Amino acid sequence: MRIKWENGVVVEYKGDGVVLDPQTKRLNYKAAFITHAHVDHSHAFKIRHIPKFSSNETMHLVTVSGTKTDNWRPLSLNEKIAIGDIEVMPRSSGHVLGSYEFEIATPNGTVLFTGDMNTRQTRLVKPAEPVNCDVLVIESTYGSPDFVFPSDDIVAEEMISWAGSVLREGRVPVFCADHIGNAQEVIRIFNENSSIPVVSHWRVSRVNRVYEAFGHKIEYIDINDEEAQELISRHNAVIVAPKNINSLSFDQKYVSAIVSGWALKLRHKSFPLSDHADFPNLMDFIRECSPKLVLTYHGGRFNEVLARHIEKKLRIRSYPINLIATNFLPI
Ligand SMILES: [Zn+2]
Ligand SMILES: [Zn+2]
Repeated sequence: MRIKWENGVVVEYKGDGVVLDPQTKRLNYKAAFITHAHVDHSHAFKIRHIPKFSSNETMHLVTVSGTKTDNWRPLSLNEKIAIGDIEVMPRSSGHVLGSYEFEIATPNGTVLFTGDMNTRQTRLVKPAEPVNCDVLVIESTYGSPDFVFPSDDIVAEEMISWAGSVLREGRVPVFCADHIGNAQEVIRIFNENSSIPVVSHWRVSRVNRVYEAFGHKIEYIDINDEEAQELISRHNAVIVAPKNINSLSFDQKYVSAIVSGWALKLRHKSFPLSDHADFPNLMDFIRECSPKLVLTYHGGRFNEVLARHIEKKLRIRSYPINLIATNFLPI
């Protein structure tokens, strides 16, 4: 089999090929597989000419922002689909609602493609499953030893105590988080551990509704409800908003904080709650998959950094996926 980077991860066997999380429309493979709804991964929904597969949850999360989904088929957890001699099976990647990693089996061996992954149990998503494989294609967003996240419970406590102190000053705390995933986790943190009501920006609310439709309990008041304005004026609520909302920060009565794994590197008030694996999580996951080769991806310069650590610490061959195409043959 052959594994290569072509604005997406491609796995080929003889004449057949599949592409995973492609970022371009110009592709000529038999099928595309989408790991999750974040924009940098779900581009394939815009491709009409080849069939595409994702979880039902991912499709619903993508359509709330108006994306059309022609030539799409749902794929359930652990449901195998054959594309010629290539067999693809989704498993949980632990990142956001409906996120998948894909196990791709060919007569030459097995590839595990993680997409974005998280191995920690969160309030709304089960952790990523390690899978024994020959080749592991792993994300390296936080693929450097600098990234060691504190436990999610400690971060949650700090969020609640910060919100309390902002409210006591007569101002309103605003948590700016990714609208799919982290925003819902923040809401759950306040639901589970405090009596402070949560006001949700409308872009977050429409994602909340998808989480609710798939059986998750999230308590919030949409920002356009009258009750929300009243709670805000009495300084009796926290606001959860998408990451790139700046309009609130110009008003003196709001104090904003960013929620992201990048918090470890930011100057702005921020909390390192992440839906990604940190460096130790990545190394543990690789060990558990015991691959013969690890291809790093999706981490920019950290692709190289993570690969170096894998070779040194785990003694497994590793390099960034976009360096060269890899021909993998059984030994
Ligand atoms: Zn993501
Ligand atoms: Zn990503």
